[in-house]
Amino acid sequence: MALILKGKPVADEIYRKLDERVKRLSERNIRPCLAIVRVGNDESSEAYESSVLKAFSKRGLEVKNCVMPESSQEAELVELLQKINCDEAVHGCMIMRPLPKHMNENSVLQHLSPAKDVDCVSRQALGGVFSGDKDCFAPCTAQACMEILDYYNIPLKGKRAAVIGRSLVVGRPLSIMLQGRDATVTMCHSKTENTAEICAEQDIIIAAAGKEKLVDKNYTNNNQCVIDVGINLGSDGKIHGDVDFDAVEPVVSAISPVPGGVGSVTTAVLAEHLVTAAERQF
Ligand code: NAD
Repeated sequence: MALILKGKPVADEIYRKLDERVKRLSERNIRPCLAIVRVGNDESSEAYESSVLKAFSKRGLEVKNCVMPESSQEAELVELLQKINCDEAVHGCMIMRPLPKHMNENSVLQHLSPAKDVDCVSRQALGGVFSGDKDCFAPCTAQACMEILDYYNIPLKGKRAAVIGRSLVVGRPLSIMLQGRDATVTMCHSKTENTAEICAEQDIIIAAAGKEKLVDKNYTNNNQCVIDVGINLGSDGKIHGDVDFDAVEPVVSAISPVPGGVGSVTTAVLAEHLVTAAERQF
C-alpha cells in the first residue's frame, strides 16, 4: 500500500512557520497584502480567489481584489499593474489567467515588478528560477510539488524524475527546480514517444499534463513516488488528477491524491511568498 502524500499537513507546516513572521510584521504595523487582478468574470478564477481570501484572512494576510471588466483595454491593465508596483501597501500581486483574447498576455505580464511577482509570471522572475536566483519567486504550483517531496522526505539527489508537461506555469520550471536538487530529469510532453516506458524507469513522476487518468499502471514501478498536479473536471462533475489513482496506488510506493494533494499546498506557498515579499519590501 502506497504512502498517501496528503497536502494538508504540508500546508499546515508552511502556515505554522509563517505565523511568527506575520506577527513580527504586524508589530511593525505591516499587514502583508496580496492584490488579485482579474479581468472579466471567470467562475473558476472567482472560486480560487474566494479560497485564497478564506485561507489568508485566517492568518492575518490581506487580499485586495482588483476586478476589471472583460472589455478593458490592455493599456488600462498595464496602468493598474504600474499602480500596484508603486503601492507600498500592496506587497504581492497575482494575475488571474488567461487574460481576455484581445490582450497580449505575454506582453502585459512583463509590467509586473519582480519584487511583487509572487507567482512568477514575468520573464524576469522565470529567468530567476532558471538561473537559480533565490531573490525571485518560483511558480507556486511548482514549488508546492517540491514542498510535498521535502515534507515526506522523498530523496531527490541522484534520483531519476520524469516531469510530464512542459508549460511555463508548472512543468518547465519544476524540471529546473528538480535539477537544482540534483535529480536527473526527463521532460515528457504531448509529442514524446513511449512516455509510459520512460516513466516506468523513473524514481519520481510528476504529472502536469491536464489529461485525466493519463498516468496508468503502465507508467509505474513498485519503488516510485507519483505527484499528481492535474486538475481535470470529469464527466461525473468531480475533480480528477492526471493519474488513475485507483490503478496506480496499489503499485507505487507513494502518491499524492487529487483533490487534497498539490492544490492544497499551492495557496500556502502563495502565502509564504507574500510574507517574504512584505519582509523584503520593509
Ligand atoms: P498546459 O495545458 O499549459 O500544459 C500542459 C502540458 O502537458 C503541455 O506541455 C503538453 O505538451 C503536455 N501534455 C498534454 N498532453 C500530454 C500527453 N498526453 N502526454 C504528455 N504530455 C502531455 O497546462 P498547465 O497549466 O501546465 O497545467 C497542467 C495541469 O495542472 C492542469 O490540469 C492544470 O489544471 C493543473 N494545475 C494545477 C495547479 C494546482 O495548484 N494543483 C496549478 C496549475 C495547474
